[in-house]
Amino acid sequence: GQPALTNLNALADEYLKLSYHGLRAAHKDFNAQLIVDLQPDLPSVAVVPQEVGRVLLNLFNNAFHAVRERQLLSPAGYQPAVTVQTRQVADQVEIRVSDNGTGVPSEAAQKIFQPFFTTKPTGQGTGLGLSISYDIITKGYGGVLSLDSTSASGTTFVIQLPIRQRPG
Ligand code: ADP
Ligand code: MG
Repeated sequence: GQPALTNLNALADEYLKLSYHGLRAAHKDFNAQLIVDLQPDLPSVAVVPQEVGRVLLNLFNNAFHAVRERQLLSPAGYQPAVTVQTRQVADQVEIRVSDNGTGVPSEAAQKIFQPFFTTKPTGQGTGLGLSISYDIITKGYGGVLSLDSTSASGTTFVIQLPIRQRPG
């Protein structure tokens, strides 16, 4: 694909639902709250939509996996939720993906972007999703992909993309 001016609000909403529907196809009894908080009039960004979509799909798939794990571990009173937020911050567009799932243990936080790091059982995770996502955002677009916070109450990842590509 070629880079095209892309509405990241539409992309975020579309891939959140795609990920949720994929999980629900496999686990029909699973329900999560989807929280969508999109900044109106978010500036468009020149990206290949399928590439940023792949990053979003991986973050959402990880988020739904984490909330489902938590529900399986301790279901009492737990309401799984996955949130996507967009906003403009100076000359960047920011997409935050949050979940209230199992969280990333602090000793794993340094390793999750490494190729083949996974805590999932064999056959369920390749450990490549975050590594590929990191390369797409940083090498592909000069942006940032980071683990913003992790705790017992869940995990937040943040994608930052420059609104205008730097000349050169
Ligand atoms: P995979 O999903 O195949 O394991 P990823 O590169 O997507 O590979 O993620 C690597 C690891 O990072 C996961 O196995 C998990 O331990 C951790 N991780 C990623 N996202 C989350 C999340 N939202 N909540 C908890 N742990 C996460
Ligand atoms: Mg993954």
